[in-house]
Amino acid sequence: MTATRIDGKAFAATVREKVAAHVSRLKDEQGITPGLAVVLVGEDPASEVYVRNKGKQTLEVGMNSYEHKLPADVSKDELYALIAKLNADPAVHGILCQFPVPAHLNEQDIVAQIDPAKDVDGLHVMNAGLLASGQRALVSCTPLGCLMLLRDHLGSLSGMNAVVIGRSNLVGKPLAQLLLGDSCTVTIAHSRTKDLPAVVRQADIVIAAVGRPQMVIGDWIKPGATVIDVGINRIDKPEGGTRLVGDADYASCAEVAGAITPVPGGVGPMTIACLLANTITACCRANNLPEPEGLTA
Ligand code: NAP
Repeated sequence: MTATRIDGKAFAATVREKVAAHVSRLKDEQGITPGLAVVLVGEDPASEVYVRNKGKQTLEVGMNSYEHKLPADVSKDELYALIAKLNADPAVHGILCQFPVPAHLNEQDIVAQIDPAKDVDGLHVMNAGLLASGQRALVSCTPLGCLMLLRDHLGSLSGMNAVVIGRSNLVGKPLAQLLLGDSCTVTIAHSRTKDLPAVVRQADIVIAAVGRPQMVIGDWIKPGATVIDVGINRIDKPEGGTRLVGDADYASCAEVAGAITPVPGGVGPMTIACLLANTITACCRANNLPEPEGLTA
């Protein structure tokens, strides 16, 4: 069998189109322009690229983008004062602080400063708690993107066995909650899981969110299963230079799976698309307006 390649790049484009159409309606009918504020501390080159891409895509869908660049030695009090200002600003519907931050700052403490209603990264404990208790939350962008790809490819996920490899607060745990919300039977595997290949072989849906290049191999995959590869790893090429690979070995998994996301071009592009989706969701909720369909969990 050769698996269907799930094209996350193309699907992310459709998500952005939906967001752009809803932004346009909000502007025309309500006179509201959704706004996303991104805070960057220091000059980490990778973070600067991410922030630039986020700002560009925010403007492309017609939203306002507010970028705040702070020096690497900014004090905790100054950073928190900026977040408080953004929390109080009615033109700002979503706030995110780009991580990692310099060592004198604490990521969890920063997220705790953000108004949960504007926490478009879905990292605030309030949003994690709402998600875990099956209530309306803002959901972490990468897990939301994985869920959207699965729903689009499989339709109903009800009753399927899902194995999520990885239990991070950013990906594994929220994605497991989302799959449970869609009535999957969910197993969360991690570094202490015994006989991981046997656990993965039970799965109709395999989520690889491990941070280990090409760890999940075709021999672990049940024929016809759907593999969602969250991993982004840079490895050396034998001929020199580097390339991006996922946490699953695409070639061997694609021989057995029914469908699989490639890296790059699978889950990666969904993350910023879901950030934009969360921003419009937050904007609609703030203004007591109906939320766009298909852009939330
Ligand atoms: P993380 O915080 O490092 O968590 C990795 C998880 O994998 C941990 O729960 C760990 O288990 C588990 N693990 C590690 N080695 C294992 C093994 N040998 N067998 C089974 N489980 C193992 O990573 P993360 O933030 O969740 O990210 C996971 C991957 O997704 C990374 O490749 C990252 O680059 C990528 N990522 C991509 C996006 C995107 O936009 N596409 C966004 C975020 C992350 P323990 O808890 O037991 O240590």
